[in-house]
Amino acid sequence: MTRLIDKYGREISYLRLAVTDRCNLRCQYCMPAKGIDIVNRKELLSYKEMYRVTRVLSELGVDKIRLTGGEPFVRKDFVNFLESLSFNKNLKEINITTNGALIANHIPLLERIKINAVNLSIDSLDRKRFFEITRRDVFPEVWETYQQLLHSNLRLKLNVVIQSGVNTKEINDFIELTKNDKVSVRFIEEMPFNGKGIRQVKEVWDYNKILKEITQKYDKIIPVQASKSSTSKNFRIEGYQGTFGIIPAFTRSICTDCNRIRITATGLFKNCLFDDGVFNLKNFIRKGASDNDLKALFIATVQQKPLNGFIAEANRKKGKVSESMSTIGG
Ligand code: SAM
Ligand code: SF4
Repeated sequence: MTRLIDKYGREISYLRLAVTDRCNLRCQYCMPAKGIDIVNRKELLSYKEMYRVTRVLSELGVDKIRLTGGEPFVRKDFVNFLESLSFNKNLKEINITTNGALIANHIPLLERIKINAVNLSIDSLDRKRFFEITRRDVFPEVWETYQQLLHSNLRLKLNVVIQSGVNTKEINDFIELTKNDKVSVRFIEEMPFNGKGIRQVKEVWDYNKILKEITQKYDKIIPVQASKSSTSKNFRIEGYQGTFGIIPAFTRSICTDCNRIRITATGLFKNCLFDDGVFNLKNFIRKGASDNDLKALFIATVQQKPLNGFIAEANRKKGKVSESMSTIGG
C-alpha cells in the first residue's frame, strides 16, 4: 500500500474531519457571542463527499478518524454518517469530539456501531461558570452525557480549555474527578482561535503553569506512557482511577511526532492546525477528480506539511491565527 509520508519521515495516519461549522453553544474562547458567519449549506462537503475522501485516505494508510466541528451532532443525519463510516474496515478507530449537550440519547447507538471514543468538552463543573463560558445554560445536559458515557463501553476523555481568570481554580476539582471516575481529563492551553485573535490576559496559563498548579497540591504524580503521536503528556495521581493530561496546544512542543491532517467542513485540506489551508478539496472533487487524482493530490500535499506549528503560522497568507475553532475543527 502507498502510504502518506511527509518529507520529515512522519507517517500520516490520522484524519480530523469537521462535519459542520455550526454550533449550539457560543464558547467565549471559540467564537463571538453572536456566533460566526456560517457558510451556505452547499459550501459544506456532503456526507457522500466526506465518505469518499475518507475511503480514499484510508486506502493510503489513514486508520484513525476524529469527527468534530462546530458541533457534529447539530448536522442532520450525522449518526447515519457515523454508521456508514463504521463499515470501512480500514478504519481502526472512529472517535468524536462533542460538547455533549445533544447526545445523551445517542449513546447506546454509538456503542452499537462501535464508535471507539468520545472526547467531551466541559470547561467547568459549576453550572453558573459553565453558562458564562459557553453562553448557554446546558450544564445539566452535558453532565448527564458525562454520566452516561462513564457507564458506557466508549473510551472517555474530557477536554478542558484552561482560561486565565476564568476556570483555573477548578483544575484540581477536575483532578479530583479522576479519583473515582475512570476518565482521562485533558487540560488544553487556550489558543487564539476565537474569531478575534490573541486575548490580553494577566497570566499565561501554559503547560508548565498548569502542571505547577497540580504539583502544588499533589505529591504522588505518576507519569503515564502515551502513544508516540499523543498530543498530551499524561499522568495519574497514585491510587486514583482515572488519569490526566496536559495538551501544549499553543506552545506547540508536540509537532515532532505529528501524524495528523485536517479537513474543514468546507473541504479545506490542512496539514497543520496553524496553517490557513493548503488545498480546496471540494472544488477538486466537484470538477470530477477520480480516486487516483485524489490519491496523487494527498501524496503530494502532505509533502508540504510544515515541520511545526510555528512555521505553519509564519507561512500563512492571512496573517496570524484568529479564525474560530469551529470552522477548523479543533
Ligand atoms: N463542538 C465540539 C466541542 O466543543 O467539543 C467539537 C468542536 S470544538 C472546536 C473541538 C475542541 O476545540 C473542543 O474541545 C474545544 O474546547 C476546543 N477549542 C475550541 N476553541 C479553542 C481555543 N481557542 N483554544 C483551545 N481549544 C479550543
Ligand atoms: Fe461550539 Fe465546540 Fe466552539 Fe464551544 S468549542 S462554541 S461547543 S464548536
